[in-house]
Amino acid sequence: METRFFADAMLGKLARWMRTLGYDVLYETGIDDTELLLKAAEEGRIVLTRDTLLMKRRLAKGRAVFIESGDLSGQLRQVAEMFPIEKDKLLTRCLRCNALLSRVAKEAVKEKVPSYVFSTQNEFSICPACNRVYWGATHRERMLEELKRMLG
Ligand SMILES: [Zn+2]
Repeated sequence: METRFFADAMLGKLARWMRTLGYDVLYETGIDDTELLLKAAEEGRIVLTRDTLLMKRRLAKGRAVFIESGDLSGQLRQVAEMFPIEKDKLLTRCLRCNALLSRVAKEAVKEKVPSYVFSTQNEFSICPACNRVYWGATHRERMLEELKRMLG
């Protein structure tokens, strides 16, 4: 089964970039440690945290990974070393809500995207949870460049 994650409130940036890479990552602000640990246990998620107190909790045993670095590229490298990136999962998730995107026919998004996007892009996907539309090309390349830079 796919490894799933729950990033603590200090790791919002990491969570977002992990979603870009296709990891299944929950992230909720305003959730307390106990709630987070319980929910992670319930859903079989690995907790990612920079909180040494959280690491000491009983519920964190064998379930939490301490993220060493304070900066995003170090954090991403640590995750990628422990849980290798699957290239075919890149850009398959909604960055906002973690849901898997579905490919959608161009005609179906006509009303939902700016007209210049509609006329210049051909591949669209949509998030079934928040209805956000994603499209490829330039955006994708910029993200991949940024990732390459961070992962070294
Ligand atoms: Zn979404």
